Amino acid sequence: MLLNVRQYGDPVLRAVSAPVEKITDDLKNLVENMLETMYATEGIGLAAPQVGVNMRLVVIDIPEDEEEGEEPEMITVNGEQKPMRSIMPLVFVNPELEPYGKQYLFTEGCLSVRGIRANVSRPEFVKARLTLLDGSTLELDCGGLLARCLQHECDHLDGFLYVDRVSSAAKITLAKKLKKLAASY
Ligand SMILES: [Zn+2]
Repeated sequence: MLLNVRQYGDPVLRAVSAPVEKITDDLKNLVENMLETMYATEGIGLAAPQVGVNMRLVVIDIPEDEEEGEEPEMITVNGEQKPMRSIMPLVFVNPELEPYGKQYLFTEGCLSVRGIRANVSRPEFVKARLTLLDGSTLELDCGGLLARCLQHECDHLDGFLYVDRVSSAAKITLAKKLKKLAASY
């Protein structure tokens, strides 16, 4: 079932979400619907608050860069090198992130902030401790798009949006568009 993706201005996007205490059938059902919604909207990540549920739950699916001759992107998963694709789709609750490394600018967009993209500065790498739906723990150490996506999605769990993190000059440029979005959500 496709879910309604909440838009900029909706207070549900600004709340701090609660930890998930128990993996229930309802939660698994929600995950199925979140994945379906993410694929239908061609997103690479979706956090539960974006569909109106203030729980610390995220789904991510990053496609492999399909350039010919490129080696598959490798990341560290529980201490072992594995292809990034091997853990997709990635569904987790109660994440703990430790971003590290140099800040770098990258253009972000968000399914909850329609029609806008902007450069955001974040650390290049992330160490993450994620709880999967079977109760197991996944420890990741990664860079690239996954590190970026993890930081963006986990921000949603604390009520932050990427547009909060753009430079002050970019904020001035975005202000009008955001005001319009907030008025029409
Ligand atoms: Zn987002």
